Amino acid sequence: MTACRREGDTWVLNGEKKWIGNATFADINIIWARDESSGQVKGFVVGKDNPGFAVKKIEHKMALRVVQNGLITLKDCRVPEADRLQNANSFRDTANVLRMTRAGVAWFAVGCGRGAYEHALRYATQRIQFGKPIAGFQLVQDLLVRMLGNVTATQCLMLRLGQLQTQGLMTDEQASLAKAFCTVKCRETVGYARELLGGNGILLENHIGRFVADAEAIYSYEGTREMNTLIVGKAITGLSAFV
Ligand SMILES: Cc1cc2nc3c(=O)[nH]c(=O)nc-3n(C[C@H](O)[C@H](O)[C@H](O)COP(=O)(O)OP(=O)(O)OC[C@H]3O[C@@H](n4cnc5c(N)ncnc54)[C@H](O)[C@@H]3O)c2cc1C
Repeated sequence: MTACRREGDTWVLNGEKKWIGNATFADINIIWARDESSGQVKGFVVGKDNPGFAVKKIEHKMALRVVQNGLITLKDCRVPEADRLQNANSFRDTANVLRMTRAGVAWFAVGCGRGAYEHALRYATQRIQFGKPIAGFQLVQDLLVRMLGNVTATQCLMLRLGQLQTQGLMTDEQASLAKAFCTVKCRETVGYARELLGGNGILLENHIGRFVADAEAIYSYEGTREMNTLIVGKAITGLSAFV
């Protein structure tokens, strides 16, 4: 947990932030920290040269290799009050950001699943076994149709969510439901695509391995399935199951 405490016109931040996207080269990072005195979450704009701020690139990722993720450490990192986000005063304000980013990651899942489906369909029409394209076998068509079903269902869900978002009506639980559902379906879809390619499915040159790996990251960040499930579960039952 990252904590902050106020000393006059300065805030002192201590803690760590793991996996922060693009933090390795960003000029500024937004850091959320819990105020030791009020217990409320506050947001800060922290520059890369700020004393007490350090970031290290996380190496050896198997997924989303195109993105750099950083491990940020904050050791008595001093930030002026002027660099505190003035309208972020509780976790409710942080949740407003998470609502938007969760919807965004749900779209990533749609794209990842669709990409895997399109590669698999093309492969199925080109790969010849027993004298004909494997796309002509019933069980291969079954995989393609399962994939298309997932892609279509998640696209339609996200279209509707996008409409609600545009109208300013999207709720936290709708974004969480979309993030959890679309990433589960994406993971299933890329698995079908990998299966369809047989042994060639594990060769990087056939692209499916990349979708399979990326689906794992998308599945876990911006709130795991468990956390998003607890948000939706609380909304539909009125009972919080958070520990
Ligand atoms: C590629 C990638 C990019 C990321 N980018 C960012 C970023 O830009 N900014 C940022 O702030 N974060 C980022 N993250 C962090 C990400 O949001 C967290 O990894 C994610 O929320 C899970 O937290 P954790 O890894 O600490 O897992 P843990 O909290 O250790 O959880 C491990 C498992 O236990 C389950 N679990 C934990 N607690 C509970 C509970 N109370 N009840 C039920 N189940 C529980 C989790 O659901 C999960 O399955 C990124 C992560 C990845 C992998």
